Amino acid sequence: MDVRDTGNFWRLAGPAVGMKGVMRLILLGTPGVGKGTQALELSECLHILHISTGELLRVEMENKTPIGMKIDKYMNAGELVPDTIIIDMLEKRLQEPDSRKGFVLDGFPRNLNQADYLKSSLERLQTSLDRVINIEVPIDTVLNRLLQRNRADDTPETIKYRLEIYKQETIPLIDYYQRAGILEQINGDASPEEVTNRILACIA
Ligand code: AMP
Repeated sequence: MDVRDTGNFWRLAGPAVGMKGVMRLILLGTPGVGKGTQALELSECLHILHISTGELLRVEMENKTPIGMKIDKYMNAGELVPDTIIIDMLEKRLQEPDSRKGFVLDGFPRNLNQADYLKSSLERLQTSLDRVINIEVPIDTVLNRLLQRNRADDTPETIKYRLEIYKQETIPLIDYYQRAGILEQINGDASPEEVTNRILACIA
């Protein structure tokens, strides 16, 4: 086996080996495909930020901030939080200096409006996305994974609703990024390590 086929190699070697210095990535895929796990791995291997909008929102809710009070009804119902709130939050995060080292976005964009915003926001920062990774996993596997998680918004009803929203709002992004020429399709029906290696291989 080539040593580069192991996540550890990339984690230690990082962007210096076969990778462009700064990577700006998006992970797409239905809830439950493992975006969070993969984003974390990629951020370590590539020495870039992991930005999870779901996580940022959960922190606001836990801290009962004014934003947190506004969003809990959407989060608990499995609905998308209004674009104005999420865009404002991401804009602030991207303006922090550490985002210059590159990032992997997990959970954003969720619709075409957010994707258009991201494009213009990166243009203002004189940069652009490198790749969009769409992770695909059979629906039965996704459902089993979601039901095993222990999150407040992972009840059978909200799972069904979130998958429906994904179909209506987020799937159009696959075509959007395909036309932009930066989409990579990854078969995510494998161990987390194997999926990480597949992603690293396609962005190297
Ligand atoms: P996630 O952790 O990505 O599964 O997101 C959990 C919940 O946070 C979603 O069901 C939405 O309510 C909200 N959320 C996360 N990211 C976004 C986004 N980009 N746009 C709107 N709502 C979001």
